[in-house]
Amino acid sequence: MNSTKVTKIGVMTSGGDSPGMNAAIRAVVRTGIYNGLEVFGIVRGYNGLIENDIFKMDSRSVANIIQRGGTILKTARSKAFTTPEGRATAYENLKKHGINGLVIIGGDGSFKGAQTFSNEYDIPCIGLPGTIDKDIAGTDVTIGFDTAVNTAVEAIDKIRDTMDAHDRLFIVEVMGRDAGYIALHSGIATGAENILIPETKTDLEDLIASLTEKEKRRKLVNLVVVAEGGEYGDANKLEAIIKERIPNADTRVCILGHIQRGGSPSCEDRLIASHMGYYAVESLLCGRHNVMVGVINNKIHYTPLDKAVKEKQKIGQEWMKIVKILAS
Ligand code: ATP
Repeated sequence: MNSTKVTKIGVMTSGGDSPGMNAAIRAVVRTGIYNGLEVFGIVRGYNGLIENDIFKMDSRSVANIIQRGGTILKTARSKAFTTPEGRATAYENLKKHGINGLVIIGGDGSFKGAQTFSNEYDIPCIGLPGTIDKDIAGTDVTIGFDTAVNTAVEAIDKIRDTMDAHDRLFIVEVMGRDAGYIALHSGIATGAENILIPETKTDLEDLIASLTEKEKRRKLVNLVVVAEGGEYGDANKLEAIIKERIPNADTRVCILGHIQRGGSPSCEDRLIASHMGYYAVESLLCGRHNVMVGVINNKIHYTPLDKAVKEKQKIGQEWMKIVKILAS
């Protein structure tokens, strides 16, 4: 807890963008103003702090954004902020505006930056998990995951139509360099035959055997969903392996890419963002510092920023078994 009374707060988005960040900004700004705080927007994450790209916001600044993807404050990765000189400049700029509390919407890298900064300059920082990967410890949900996974499902459903018309084997790559949640959820929801994710080992021989067996009994329409960081590499690498082992397979690769980051946030992401944004300001007002606001079992939960790191989710083996049975 911090004894200094917070009167002026800054809000920023940092790292990779995710749908729902705007809803979180809106909640922070309006909750802050409701409580008599002055609220400042910081543009392009930590870069904005260093370049003094900081502006005062009011309730109207966040009108008509709850439904928009991206982030009105822009986002960036800042090399300069990882240096002591960069952080010293950032602090000077905060002092100029009298800002004595920060809300950072981003991933674990952004939280590390906030923790370092706060240790050096004793400024309370509150993190909100904004990432489509859902791979942060201390929360069941992250802002953007629900939208991203629904975007993937919608796209894969369309691919299924053409896949079915041509009896093809499609390998669809979804985002997730270190995390397989988008692949797992979208794969289950679209009836994928196989799902390859970074968290679990894939038995390649088993995969080839099941595809070969399906080919023999003329089940030619097969969907494989792979996370970017799948054990055998991306979708193109996996296709090369499959082609080598099953030369007759009529395969196609589709990489969904950045469409998964964009688009209007789902109702779920708007709710999560609004809830967390409200509690970020409440946290600052009651003297909490250096915590991430998360949700566990539908209840607000605070995790120290240094513990809100990327978490390898424990994806149940049972799901993989179910996927296999349902795709037979
Ligand atoms: P994503 O999950 O989308 O990658 P992220 O928040 O993890 O989002 P990063 O690029 O890892 O994104 O971190 C955002 C920024 O946080 C970095 O560009 C850097 O400015 C700052 N940052 C990260 N780690 C540190 C650190 N140890 N010290 C100071 N600043 C840091």
